[in-house]
Amino acid sequence: MRSEFLPFSTPTIDEAEINEVVDCLRSGWITTGPKVKRFEEAFAAYVGAPFAVPLSSATAGLHLALLALKIGEGDEIITTPMTFASTVSMIVLCGGRPVFVDIESGTLNIDATKIREKITPRTRAIIPVHFAGQSCDMDPIFSLATEFGLTVIEDAAHAAGSEYKGQRIGSLDSISIFSFHPNKNITTGEGGMVCTRDETLAEEVSLLKFHGMNREAWKRFAASGTPNYDIVLPGFKYNMMDIQAALGIHQLPKLDDFITKRTEIAEFYSHALADIPELALPVCAPFAQRHAWHLYTPLVKVEKLTIDRDQFMTALKQENIGTGLHYKAVHHHAWYRENLPQPEGSLPNADYASDRILSLPLFPKMTLDDANDVVEALKTVITRCRR
Ligand SMILES: *Cc1c(COP(=O)(O)O)cnc(C)c1O
Repeated sequence: MRSEFLPFSTPTIDEAEINEVVDCLRSGWITTGPKVKRFEEAFAAYVGAPFAVPLSSATAGLHLALLALKIGEGDEIITTPMTFASTVSMIVLCGGRPVFVDIESGTLNIDATKIREKITPRTRAIIPVHFAGQSCDMDPIFSLATEFGLTVIEDAAHAAGSEYKGQRIGSLDSISIFSFHPNKNITTGEGGMVCTRDETLAEEVSLLKFHGMNREAWKRFAASGTPNYDIVLPGFKYNMMDIQAALGIHQLPKLDDFITKRTEIAEFYSHALADIPELALPVCAPFAQRHAWHLYTPLVKVEKLTIDRDQFMTALKQENIGTGLHYKAVHHHAWYRENLPQPEGSLPNADYASDRILSLPLFPKMTLDDANDVVEALKTVITRCRR
């Protein structure tokens, strides 16, 4: 057994990030300012988005994207139950109705072939989530959107650096929303980015993110600015700070190396765990793509074991291996069971995955020796708890 606890994830922060934050603190300007602008431009260029709006989180991005599209009472938004709750909660908070489409059993991404049957005259948008950093099959989703006049909002929280058929996620004809939470592919501590080709939409999100103010504060206080401003609509306080962007500026150039490292660990897992019948390993879609390997999420076939998934995670912890839970399906959570109950058996693949999924340690600083410790711990627990 490993002597030291291996966490499920930990960010890679080097001297460059630390020095940039210190520079920010010494500069006299710590909230939204020149560093946010630099990060915004670099991120937009990296993903290939004409417009990008930096925010305090991806949750804020989802919220503002829905508001900018005027989603409200009675509007239906199609999405996946295999996501972080905020994807769905933002729909609810805008007054919309989340409509779940089941996932594919292998990739755990939304099953694009099952979307059409859920479209009604009230459907306004589709929110695919690129689960674990693997792109959803976007072509059929875009054709449905065109056919029915729907907007596509990509929850790209896992997908910084992912590609679909040669195109970076962030550059497609949609609104895509990235997260820079510490567990994500790159981090700003907390943070998010809305990317789009639609200038009007980017402007609307930009206004909503900071009080509906017609000019950004740092421009007002710059030598060339004037302190006056106007509130052109009631807005939120969802801006990213320069302290956050200071991290992002130095994380972004490392993203490709991070993905290379993550891919190496993921491939090691897939090879080393291939012959264990108690595990169903992540499946890659057949189309051309770059998987960012944000997560490595096997399903534990609990029917072959004497313990359930939560006990399995506890047993791994006793072997000094941390795990994550991404995700308990959204419709299994208390509020959703109460307020948006789904017909029994209507989301079979999500139900199956929800009770069996766990996330193995996966982060760029991990070594193959660490990954091997994970494999050994999995084998130990499975051997002990086999039926
Ligand atoms: C992390 C995450 C979010 C929320 O991102 P924050 O930046 O923490 O608000 C939304 N959707 C998915 C799929 C996520 O993993």
